[in-house]
Amino acid sequence: MTQNRDSRSLRPGRLGLLAVLVATSLAAQPADLVLRHTTVYTVNERQPMAQAVAVQAGRIVFVGNDAGVAPFIGPGTKVLDLAGSFVYPGFVDAHAHFPAIGEREMVLNLEGTRTKADFLAKVESAVKTAKPGAWVTGRGWIETFWSPPVFPSRQDLDAIAPNNPILLERADGHAAIANSIALRRAGITGSTKAPAGGAINLDAAGEPTGMLIDHAQGLVEVLVPPPDEAAAERALQLADQRELSLGWTQVQDMHGDWTEVARMRKLYAEGKLHIRLLKAITGPGPEADRLIAQGPGSPEFNDRFQVRGIKLVMDGALGSRGAALLAPYSDDPGNTGLITLEPAAALDLMKRALRAGVQVQAHAIGDRGNRSLLELYAAAMAAVPRAERKIADPRWRVEHAQIVAPVDFPKFKTLGLIASMQPSHAIGDLFFAPSRLGQDRLPGAYAWQTLLSLGVPLAGGSDAPVERGEPNIEFYAAVARTAIDGRSGPGWHPEEKVTRAQALKMFTWFPAYAAFEEDRHGSIETGKAADFSVFDQDLMTIPEADILKTRNRYTIIGGNIVYQAK
Ligand SMILES: [Zn+2]
Repeated sequence: MTQNRDSRSLRPGRLGLLAVLVATSLAAQPADLVLRHTTVYTVNERQPMAQAVAVQAGRIVFVGNDAGVAPFIGPGTKVLDLAGSFVYPGFVDAHAHFPAIGEREMVLNLEGTRTKADFLAKVESAVKTAKPGAWVTGRGWIETFWSPPVFPSRQDLDAIAPNNPILLERADGHAAIANSIALRRAGITGSTKAPAGGAINLDAAGEPTGMLIDHAQGLVEVLVPPPDEAAAERALQLADQRELSLGWTQVQDMHGDWTEVARMRKLYAEGKLHIRLLKAITGPGPEADRLIAQGPGSPEFNDRFQVRGIKLVMDGALGSRGAALLAPYSDDPGNTGLITLEPAAALDLMKRALRAGVQVQAHAIGDRGNRSLLELYAAAMAAVPRAERKIADPRWRVEHAQIVAPVDFPKFKTLGLIASMQPSHAIGDLFFAPSRLGQDRLPGAYAWQTLLSLGVPLAGGSDAPVERGEPNIEFYAAVARTAIDGRSGPGWHPEEKVTRAQALKMFTWFPAYAAFEEDRHGSIETGKAADFSVFDQDLMTIPEADILKTRNRYTIIGGNIVYQAK
């Protein structure tokens, strides 16, 4: 894909003249903000690097060298001398779960538990502070790093919590462990039939183990009292602060409903949210139908907030063996995973979305999940020709696109799709993916370079809070494709890693394109919004291991410094 599509319609002569006029008229006024004495990576092919940037009224008015920026500095200009720092276009997390990022800070966080004993100790201390009979909930555990790497059981939890119902979500959100009280309250026994797209794991005696996969989690989840409104607002503000401190300027938030949209609008109106959010509504169902009826929203709150897409979930996840595979799991013969979307309802929704100009973004992890989704997308696009669409090129997205049968890759290009992928998933999953999938299926797994080579836009994300959600970890995973400690193994396919320039584009220009915002975001160019991530290291040249030590110094959105490191 070519950059700067917005300028294609202008003939070069006119464009040059326009640039002169813009430069002259704007140079007459001092800038609000100047960044100088620094290294700017612009993600603009015509001017890849610069030393200085000037900003006026939230937009970039100058990109060039230190001498060139001098005329923009007036008495009221805030000047940041950023020698030793490096300026990038605002980093975008193209796939995250924004409210849950804040909730992670508020509930029992089980990330990083290295053993089952450690996990149980953390749960036990939470149980001790809970009232008798009150729910204890938490999230973030992952058994793949334990030894042995087996799911916890309800008996493990019963031993430490005989009087409190417990529900603890696995890190991927696609499975949870419940104790016996929780199962009893939900009426779950060995003979309970799991809902479509879910599984209730049973032990050798035919009794529930406590593990609930994908849609089966809902049987217990509905019993957990939801956070009250004040807590929900607090979670959003915590997420805002955390994301800004890490250097993200936009989060593309992967699910939600209109209650949440109303809550976000209230907080923006009160000046309590600062990050840019692209919000999706979960479908299918009445909430998604409402978006289709209204059509995609316009930017609100000075381009900070927009509702434009519908999030669907095609299948489960690999870790909990819910990802839908074309052939059985290599470590679970007879299990091919779960399709969690009803195809007829999905196709109907997709056709209506195309007519209404609503973007569809669907989670697909397994090769069967991806193929089923590609078939649905193709059927919808065939049924609604371009002339009948509100947006001819709908830029539909495949979230994760993790394991794809190699024969299916070209369909991403022919259907004009965006692959929305999370580098950190690869460097976490590749420890267990070989046993789940076998070596033969790994060439189509986390195939970033294959998709980029086909010309498919690759929007990079973190899936936080499933992963930590830090720009440096994602950038490192994309370019190194080795674990945080440098480890790798058979089947990791290092040829699928990306270059530094590709990685930078994955977190800047491609997400802007995926959001239909490449005319005003995604690169540092005059006329675009003044969003910058300022890091303390040169991501484009430092040794790979040092990328993980990179820290954010400033987060700047629309010319406002919304975070400054102490
Ligand atoms: Zn997700």
